[in-house]
Amino acid sequence: MKPKLFVIAGPSGVGKGTIIKDLLSQNDNLTLSVSSTTRQPRPGEADGINYNFLNQEQFKTAIENGEFLEWAVYNNNYYGTKKSAVEDALNIGKSIILEIEIQGALQIMEKCPDAVFIFILPPSYEELEKRLRGRNTEDEQTIQNRLKITQKELEIGKKFKYSVVNNKVDEAVEKILEIVNKECEC
Ligand code: 5GP
Repeated sequence: MKPKLFVIAGPSGVGKGTIIKDLLSQNDNLTLSVSSTTRQPRPGEADGINYNFLNQEQFKTAIENGEFLEWAVYNNNYYGTKKSAVEDALNIGKSIILEIEIQGALQIMEKCPDAVFIFILPPSYEELEKRLRGRNTEDEQTIQNRLKITQKELEIGKKFKYSVVNNKVDEAVEKILEIVNKECEC
């Protein structure tokens, strides 16, 4: 199996987290990149596991030092993927998944033409709003901001090589595993 860089993007609340957890449990050759962010940890999130939580100064220094493969500002917070995270995985023969928003995905399209781009779509916009509210982790303003960003994201998602609708998690995971197997064979 050839290790590859997979970029999985999709609107906030579409279920990327659940899908990726299942993917990782079903394919030992896959690993997930731990991003850096300046957003506050949510209850239950741990530093170094869900994210590397940095303050703005630390993040900006890492940008200046050229440590990021990509980075973006999303909803007033910085998010980024360290080059080292991706290189370390590929060097030990593992494929790596980046779960990132759309501006970062566009940067990877420029820099890593061999990366594989998978966009996760909600069954409908209404369903997405319901899921986002059901999470109960964001206030109304944040939900509104995220929904606004979503409309733009759905448009850019058309550039992705693959799109997978998350109607049922199991089916979405199965489809992505097929994509992973196909892409890592060539
Ligand atoms: P959340 O705050 O819900 O964890 O993430 C917000 C958005 O940031 C999600 O769309 C998530 O995919 C994206 N994100 C997480 N890590 C990164 C990263 O390293 N780079 C970029 N560009 N986006 C990220």
